[in-house]
Amino acid sequence: MDKMLEKFEGSILGLSIGDALGMPTEWFTKEEIAEKYGLIDNFVDPKNKFNGILKAGQYTDDTDQTIAILNSFDVRGFNNDIFIKELIKWYNNNPVGMGPTSTKAIEKLIEGDTTGCDSRTCGSSMRVGPLGLFYFGEYDKLKEITIKATKLTHNNDEAIAGALSIAFFVAESVNNVKSEKSIKRCAKFIEDVSYDFSEKILLINDLNSADEAYELFDTGLPAIECVPSAIATFLRTDTFKDGMISCVNAGGDTDSMGSMYGAIAGAYYGVLNIPELWIAGLQNKDLLVDLSKKLYKLRFKK
Ligand SMILES: [Mg+2]
Repeated sequence: MDKMLEKFEGSILGLSIGDALGMPTEWFTKEEIAEKYGLIDNFVDPKNKFNGILKAGQYTDDTDQTIAILNSFDVRGFNNDIFIKELIKWYNNNPVGMGPTSTKAIEKLIEGDTTGCDSRTCGSSMRVGPLGLFYFGEYDKLKEITIKATKLTHNNDEAIAGALSIAFFVAESVNNVKSEKSIKRCAKFIEDVSYDFSEKILLINDLNSADEAYELFDTGLPAIECVPSAIATFLRTDTFKDGMISCVNAGGDTDSMGSMYGAIAGAYYGVLNIPELWIAGLQNKDLLVDLSKKLYKLRFKK
């Protein structure tokens, strides 16, 4: 398989696997997860708010919104007007696990209002992986497109800085870069959007483990918590599997932590380094592979 296609499939399947692995643990604390499930290292049926609604291997709004992003590319690249239509289509289809900001923001989009909501949550950070894949060599363009796609729902500096940070690290991973230097470069990339967020990103420098990151940043819904934690997990672990298990057992917003980590780590390690068991058990894996191939063909004109 072409190395780049391995990265595209790795990132998109990785995101969705993280979402599905983290779905049953969302909003439990680390201790509650240990008590209810032991260690999560494969898909399990949910014992949280998704009980009776979703089953082992099924994903949530993180993947749904990523699919909406993936459906919004044409030969010219990402198209925000198509994205608006895709978000509304998703909203009208009785989605599972839709966050409060996305709900409000899409209701505004239906009214023709594209100003989004002033919300610090990670609802855009979790979906921007494909933008990092497509615009991996063009950081100015990546920034412009990511800001526009984020503001439609999350018109807030911290939410935008979070989405930019995830898109940045996905782009670095496509370029095969996993380096301490990326921390500084990411902080520079976002500092004009949110200086506070760039300062948080720089703190990753001093951390020795993913667990230290969860202590320092926390793993909740605000982008300024879960985004630095997901990035630190990537930088402080050595395999796709180890980082993922760490994320989905951390407690808090585990499905988004898994999604953001999976988008970055999947792009770096490639689909061949994702455990086969996880790919085999994932809902709609064929659709996600097809969407990865479509994005790859558009990007490389193949
Ligand atoms: Mg979710």
